[in-house]
Amino acid sequence: MKATTSTTGSFSKLYCTVFGHQYNVTKKVTKHVKEYTCKCCKKQLTTNSNGCLTELTPTFREINSLLERVHSKRMMRLNQKIAS
Ligand SMILES: [Zn+2]
Repeated sequence: MKATTSTTGSFSKLYCTVFGHQYNVTKKVTKHVKEYTCKCCKKQLTTNSNGCLTELTPTFREINSLLERVHSKRMMRLNQKIAS
């Protein structure tokens, strides 16, 4: 048995319009850059270079994955330095 969820989307949007989005951090890209998803309507936001929240567009997703790679590489090098 599958529950129908076709009405949930529009209801969530209405909820968000009235009460505001319920953002959860879904990904930590760097110390300062995070990705957020609204648990109601699944709208995604990210922190841009100015430190402001902006909609997570494909361009920002690309920038974030690049940032993440650079950041994790740097952290790895830092950890190695501490270990040795
Ligand atoms: Zn929302």
